[in-house]
Amino acid sequence: MEKGMLLYEGKAKKVYATDDPEELIVSYKDDATAFNGQKRGTIEGKGAINNRMSNALMQLLEREGIPTHYLRELNERETLVRRVRIVPLEVIVRNLSAGSFAKRYGVEEGIPFCAPTIEFSYKNDALGDPLLNGYHVVALSLATPAELETIKRYSFQINDVLKAFWASCGVTLVDFKLEFGRLPDGSIVLADEISPDTCRLWDSRTGKKLDKDRFRRDLGGVEDAYREIMDRLTQKLEAAE
Ligand code: ADP
Ligand code: MG
Repeated sequence: MEKGMLLYEGKAKKVYATDDPEELIVSYKDDATAFNGQKRGTIEGKGAINNRMSNALMQLLEREGIPTHYLRELNERETLVRRVRIVPLEVIVRNLSAGSFAKRYGVEEGIPFCAPTIEFSYKNDALGDPLLNGYHVVALSLATPAELETIKRYSFQINDVLKAFWASCGVTLVDFKLEFGRLPDGSIVLADEISPDTCRLWDSRTGKKLDKDRFRRDLGGVEDAYREIMDRLTQKLEAAE
């Protein structure tokens, strides 16, 4: 598959055209940003880790019946995906309180919820990704009511699969962000990435953070944490072979 024109350079990935208009190549960078791009840095080795982790998790989800954009890993940093029209929403699923949720509602971090929660933000950097409810999503025509139902259903299914997988690695899936897109036939698939950049992952025993919060909060050991979480996943997948 030939890498064509650079279509878009985002904060964490570059997106290239291919000779097939329905396929794209995503290339994962080591660049890290936080707080809507106000904090910038580099996490050595992150691009390769996020690429491999996201691909492994998307293949796991496909096996569980959730459609994704994943097609084929091309090399350490690059993956061939199905081109979608992105639904401009960040879909956040939470199992325990943390981050903006804890701040917004004035609760401690790490409180387990009796049932998972979902929330949406409008994927719009200029506006700072403002929070939206389902009515706002429909009012702004960001998704139809039917698409929104599909997105919610997939999101909770994805949570069930990922929560169980990470638990088997000794890791608590605290929360995560998803993006969905539309295929040419209008069907909804999971797109973008699932990685330590987009998930909160805590060691189940010690509570140690193994995700981008180490970068956001200057906790140190960022590269080691990314390597550790990738090792946990790799060991699990190898044991399952
Ligand atoms: P951002 O800075 O917006 O987070 P990223 O660095 O994560 O961007 O780059 C990925 C960009 O590509 C995002 O805008 C994301 O929505 C988009 N994207 C992800 N998967 C696909 C896909 N399968 N088809 C089209 N666009 C995609
Ligand atoms: Mg992104």
